[in-house]
Amino acid sequence: MSSVICSICLERVKSPVCCPCGHIHCEGCLNEAIDVSDGSSKANCPTCRAPFYITPTEKVPTKYHRYVYPSTRRIYLDEHSDGDLHAKVADLESRLVKVMGEKTTLLTRLEAAQKSVESFRYNQEIANLEIKDLRHKRLVWERKCASAEDKYNKNVSLLEKAKEDLASERKAHEQCKAECMKLRQM
Ligand SMILES: [Zn+2]
Ligand SMILES: [Zn+2]
Repeated sequence: MSSVICSICLERVKSPVCCPCGHIHCEGCLNEAIDVSDGSSKANCPTCRAPFYITPTEKVPTKYHRYVYPSTRRIYLDEHSDGDLHAKVADLESRLVKVMGEKTTLLTRLEAAQKSVESFRYNQEIANLEIKDLRHKRLVWERKCASAEDKYNKNVSLLEKAKEDLASERKAHEQCKAECMKLRQM
């Protein structure tokens, strides 16, 4: 079926004819429109009102009638390629719908991916802060540990010294005691 619509009957054109301006109408509709006009040698396109000449054949000798070119021309619309075009348009429309659907899916996936990237970054920041905090705590404990070890070592050496002192005092006391016993026995 032809997709060209006649502006007179508002249906798909039947026996299409073309005015000099290029507008296409049904042959019957255009003839009727010219027949009801004022009978002058001019007519107007029913679509755009562009004037065109009607050649009144009665003013031309009969033997030249076949050389008179009519202002309107018959048009041959290629219905088959028109149908092809409709099929192509329908195919393109269905592909467009599919592509739009794919676009929506991709956008949804992109949004989800962006959200997971954001949440990953957020978690990473928190993890970095925790690592920083732990490093700080480790440093504090390492210092405490070092000072405790220092104190312990100092106390150990003090204890060793005290033991030595005690031992030498005990020795002196023993000597003193022995001297006293000797003197008493005299
Ligand atoms: Zn028509
Ligand atoms: Zn026109």
